[in-house]
Amino acid sequence: MSKDKRLGPTEADRQRWHDEGAPVFDKIMERAKEILTEGDPPRVTLSDGTQVYPEHRMIVPETGMQKGYVVLADEERAKGFVRPYRDTYVHIKCGVVTKMGRTIAETYARDPFFYSGTYCAHCHAHFPVGMNGEFFWDGSKEKVGT
Ligand SMILES: [Zn+2]
Repeated sequence: MSKDKRLGPTEADRQRWHDEGAPVFDKIMERAKEILTEGDPPRVTLSDGTQVYPEHRMIVPETGMQKGYVVLADEERAKGFVRPYRDTYVHIKCGVVTKMGRTIAETYARDPFFYSGTYCAHCHAHFPVGMNGEFFWDGSKEKVGT
């Protein structure tokens, strides 16, 4: 029995399939790379545009604010807002209005569900946002984070 009588493709077949298939394979890999990139989490920075560092959540005792706040990066916010730009909100518990920085306000406008809580300038502390949260956008009945 000669070697060529074995079942399955010959080495020549494999080589030919490989050569013919290579461009298709490259295209599949290219598309796979695109899909993987699309699935990447959005890039974030701190509100002043600097890199996120692990201790940014530490509270500054004098103000009760964090050392830094994470925002969506410039290029993410540039993709467009799904809510109006608003930068002032009311804390239900104390009735005081807090104004936030532009990059945080833009992050809310781009992704209303980005944050789980926010800061009250009167209470000097953070409280939850969302449907059951403690904040309304100033001048509206719309909860922050919805
Ligand atoms: Zn308050």
